[in-house]
Amino acid sequence: MINNEEEKKHNLNVLLQLTQINLKQKPALFMVLFNTGSSEVLIEGDLVFPKTRNALYCLNNNCFWKKNSNNIVEIPYIVTYNNKLVIANAMSTFHSKTCIRFVARSTQSDYISIENKDGCYSSLGRTGGKQVVSLNRQGCVYHGIHELLHALGFYHEQTRSDRDKYVMINWENISPDMAQNFQKQNTNNQNTPYDYGSIMHYGKTTFSIQPGLETITPIPDETVEIGQSQGMSNTDILRVNKLYGC
Ligand SMILES: [Zn+2]
Repeated sequence: MINNEEEKKHNLNVLLQLTQINLKQKPALFMVLFNTGSSEVLIEGDLVFPKTRNALYCLNNNCFWKKNSNNIVEIPYIVTYNNKLVIANAMSTFHSKTCIRFVARSTQSDYISIENKDGCYSSLGRTGGKQVVSLNRQGCVYHGIHELLHALGFYHEQTRSDRDKYVMINWENISPDMAQNFQKQNTNNQNTPYDYGSIMHYGKTTFSIQPGLETITPIPDETVEIGQSQGMSNTDILRVNKLYGC
């Protein structure tokens, strides 16, 4: 997710990359990269759209991580990222608030690999095999939680199926090559309220064609704050627990 301050700071340009990933369920995926304008690619939005359906509605729940007999959802991981404290902090919230447990990988075939690549990105949900969660040092070290939520199967909040009741998308202010990030998805909202304070919500001026122009305006009260990068909101936590039956 991107908030206004970060957006100003990084003056993001954007690169849209269509990526076909060979998954067990073989959806086509979009991966969205956000370029800083420097030689380093910086990603925060990092979306993955199955072409068939929302990940939260995947067939046979194959895009979710499996719960074990102890009602714990273990997600094996390896880390090549050099700031392991950031990773540990991101994971600790899941461990204390949900039944998700990130465990050091031994021989498990499905796992996440946390790397410091060019940008910040993650697949949407469990893809099968190794899947990279990239946390670029300059761009998203504070967003480890955001990326991990993508890996669990969560979209950006402003793409929720019912978002038009809560936000107005100002298409004329959106960089054309980033418009995909604002497309509404067929999401499973799990009877949870629209959450302006979700860590998965974009900020008001994310991907604006011009600094300060709003791409997302909350309705009916346009003064409501949207987007944050501090941590999971209560609703974010609730959704993890609902989706994974914690
Ligand atoms: Zn994202």
